[in-house]
Amino acid sequence: MTMRQWIRAIRDRRCGFCGVTIERGAPMVEITLHRLRSLLRCPSCAGVPVPTDLPPLAAPTTMGGDLTPVAVTARAWLPYADRDER
Ligand SMILES: [Zn+2]
Repeated sequence: MTMRQWIRAIRDRRCGFCGVTIERGAPMVEITLHRLRSLLRCPSCAGVPVPTDLPPLAAPTTMGGDLTPVAVTARAWLPYADRDER
């Protein structure tokens, strides 16, 4: 099962085919293979035009903003982890 999905880059990514940089907010195709691997394609390599109804980056950015405090909190809960690593 291969899924192709148009998404917008939430950060700078690199096309897995031609290696061009996909800048944050730019549309790209995410191809998921067997739910295990995902490939990124820039619009040039996708072979199909960017859908006009692709939503702007606003929604994914909000989601990332919600995730960041969680990560910070998780670190705060493990104050001794850093010492053990060193
Ligand atoms: Zn490309």
